[in-house]
Amino acid sequence: MFANTANTLAKCKACIFVLTIAATSVSTQTNAPQSMSPATGPTRSNVLRGEYGRYRANNDLLAYDLDIRVDPEKKFVTGKNTIRFKMLKDDTRIQLDLYDNLKIDKILFRKSENRGQRSDNSSTELKYERDSGAVFVDFPATLKAGRTYAIDFYYSGTPQTIGRFGGFTFGKDPLNRPWIFTACEGEGASIWWPNKDQWKDEVESMHIRVAVPNGLTDVSNGKFLGKTDLGDGYTRWDWLVQYPINNYNVSLNIGNYVHWSDRLGDLSLDFYALPEDLDKAKTQFAQAKGMLEAFQHYFGNYPFKKDGYKLVQAPYSGMEHQSAVTYGNRFKNGYLERDWTGVGISTRFDFIIIHESGHEWFGNSVTAADRSDMWIHEGWTTYLECLYVEFMYGKDDGLKYTNAYKSKVMNQRPIIAPRGVNATPPQDQYFKGALFINTLRSIVDDDKRWWTLLRDFYDHFKYRTIMMEDIVAYFNQKTGMNLTPIFDQYLRHTALPVLELDFAEAGTVRYRWKTDEAGFAMPVKIGTRARWQLIRPTTEWQSMKSELKKEDFSVATDLYYVEVKKL
Ligand SMILES: [Zn+2]
Repeated sequence: MFANTANTLAKCKACIFVLTIAATSVSTQTNAPQSMSPATGPTRSNVLRGEYGRYRANNDLLAYDLDIRVDPEKKFVTGKNTIRFKMLKDDTRIQLDLYDNLKIDKILFRKSENRGQRSDNSSTELKYERDSGAVFVDFPATLKAGRTYAIDFYYSGTPQTIGRFGGFTFGKDPLNRPWIFTACEGEGASIWWPNKDQWKDEVESMHIRVAVPNGLTDVSNGKFLGKTDLGDGYTRWDWLVQYPINNYNVSLNIGNYVHWSDRLGDLSLDFYALPEDLDKAKTQFAQAKGMLEAFQHYFGNYPFKKDGYKLVQAPYSGMEHQSAVTYGNRFKNGYLERDWTGVGISTRFDFIIIHESGHEWFGNSVTAADRSDMWIHEGWTTYLECLYVEFMYGKDDGLKYTNAYKSKVMNQRPIIAPRGVNATPPQDQYFKGALFINTLRSIVDDDKRWWTLLRDFYDHFKYRTIMMEDIVAYFNQKTGMNLTPIFDQYLRHTALPVLELDFAEAGTVRYRWKTDEAGFAMPVKIGTRARWQLIRPTTEWQSMKSELKKEDFSVATDLYYVEVKKL
């Protein structure tokens, strides 16, 4: 393995790890919601952020219309988010979220919308209560289940620049022009705009309107609708997201971008880079086509076709922002000019283009309903890297790339983090997650069936937010196997399954699994690499005849991510 993994990665909390943040200096402030401390339990802000409580569960988001002005000189944001939602239960209060350092200017209840009378443009100012990042909005009368309502949430202030990605950063590009971006998976979208800041409930569509000084470009998510000169030195850029989107994916990228287009079949591809990097960017971004072809081969159409695929230069390593993936990998193959998996394969492609775009399928289309289950984003997308390698370079290289990730696994905390408290899972969600999915493929032990299973799995859950239990139930049903103890061992426990082999009696091998899950039963291939034999160990001892000597007796550990203990 190459050096610098464990220490650097242990601190990472968002999509992909930033070894350095180039071109932008990011200061760290302390008044963000703090992560969970094992000694003290979750903070109040993380309980409020993480819990899907009564005032969130009583409504279902329909649409956001975010309309803001960004002033690079004053480092100031002002505007409003119009939030449309349907009530699921009668109630007088809902929970939204906005970081405490941002000012709430007013929250208006739209009467015309809510009464269905177009002529009535009046609105009522609503009362609210702020608590550790949450904003509880109170209505003068009961909102009725089944009916749709809308509020205009006006706010202003200077969003914080925090976290490894920057949260909201008023930066400068290398030629000292404004370069402003958001990257807030860890911090939450309420670091810069008011919303229902959780993962379970997504809007069905969203307008993003960002006014910036003339001459600058804003690239946000969705389809570009057009720009309007506002006549006061500002131009507003309008974007429309036509699919469900999770909050942390909503982004702005404001800079002196140049834009070029391409197509892959009927999918529009749009690219944005700084003018001085244009040649390098055009060469490197050409890899997007091969990436799309690989993932479309396994999972079908690109999920956000109406919105198009965009790749946008950014000053940090990269982020999966839906339909507007950000890129900062220095226009070089590998990851930040390193051989990421250390076996000579990751230098053949641009890790960030492949990984961050893979999230369009897992993370953006199929999304975890709680941060605890973020392996649905990261484990699956890391596995998609492995599939990309297999598609481009063959199965052997795919397996080599996958197994190289073993060197990054820590096995110190379970992959599934505590639920409902905004807890971030450990980095094992990436590498152990991918190795587990590869193990699942070996359990199925039939590639044709595996490809069908993967494709159906994706199709079944696309555009939805789900939990681990949904995935287990799906695989159990489709395979007819009881995979629950296997999923639980890999995702809910720290230790790998240990295959114990006892050679005490000549000509016989005894075997069993040693695991935390009592019902753990997983087939595994043993014997010699030239001629594997399938056995079905459980947690009880079984025996088999074998002429192989203890030192010659192998286990197919590149197909099954397990530990082997020879007794
Ligand atoms: Zn990722």
